[in-house]
Amino acid sequence: MTSTPLLLALDFGGTKLTAALTYPGEHTWLAHRRFFLPSGVDGRYEYDTMLDLAHDLIEENGRPPAAIGVSFGGPVYARAGLVKRSFHTPGWENTPLAEWLAAELKAPAAVDNDANAAALGEFRFGAGQGCQHLLYVTISTGIGGGWIINGQPYAGADGMAGEIGHLTVQPGGFVCPCGRQGCLEAEASGPAMAHRARLYLAKKKDKSGSAPGRGKRLLQLADGKPEKITAQLVAQAAAEGDKLSQRVIRESAERLGVGLAGALALMNPDRVILGGGVSKSGELWWQTVRDATRAQTNAETSVEIVPAALGDDAPLWGAAALAKEMLR
Ligand SMILES: [Zn+2]
Repeated sequence: MTSTPLLLALDFGGTKLTAALTYPGEHTWLAHRRFFLPSGVDGRYEYDTMLDLAHDLIEENGRPPAAIGVSFGGPVYARAGLVKRSFHTPGWENTPLAEWLAAELKAPAAVDNDANAAALGEFRFGAGQGCQHLLYVTISTGIGGGWIINGQPYAGADGMAGEIGHLTVQPGGFVCPCGRQGCLEAEASGPAMAHRARLYLAKKKDKSGSAPGRGKRLLQLADGKPEKITAQLVAQAAAEGDKLSQRVIRESAERLGVGLAGALALMNPDRVILGGGVSKSGELWWQTVRDATRAQTNAETSVEIVPAALGDDAPLWGAAALAKEMLR
């Protein structure tokens, strides 16, 4: 195996850094290191810590990588290997990350944003194997996405293709972190679900006539404190029969269906893969997403909507695929 080129995959996530080694064609990691970030760090700290992880792996393995692939949590000019900024950490603005890593680790490096990397990871190693056109969407604190078209990553002119989180799905709806209203992210992300639940709990009676008593189980789970409500608790309460939580799940999933239907109308993928914490919200969420998408999609359009297979490791596997492409 000593002549086989070694691939180094790096993932700069919002809460953690991960580095791993694999061989081309392998579906398992040869070695894997993860570091949970303390709060308040900057880009320099993250870069230095990641280099430490990489050097540890390389030292243990006894030889350097032949190529490096990087998944980054923020907008990236992939072709230039340049990070525009981080969604999570200050100090990353306009960092030539591919160039820095290549100089430090003496191997060519490729960088892409985490959603594009995860799409590539699922396509090569996970739930997207065997299809030609896929949309990957991650629904967690935010909502991001990436395309594979004709078996190749499709990034668009600015590397921003697939950013479905800022598609308007509810004009005049909830305010989005981007400053606009009614974006998919503002209507269907984890924080959006918690926000909607708090809003309904605070209402005496809403349009559908929900009594204030509904949501009792959700409040119990949150120790009686609305500010402690999370999407995960909403999903749990919904599964236990809490009507207010079920309504929140349905409405959030319906908004996602609006966004997905728009994407299907434009690109006609054969598969949509949904990942991220919110995709673990249970059967009601999945059924509503599928029904709402289909209800707004042309009858001639066939599409499978399936769960992601690689979980938290999807961007890292995408990074491995990026590294492999550098070998050509
Ligand atoms: Zn937005």
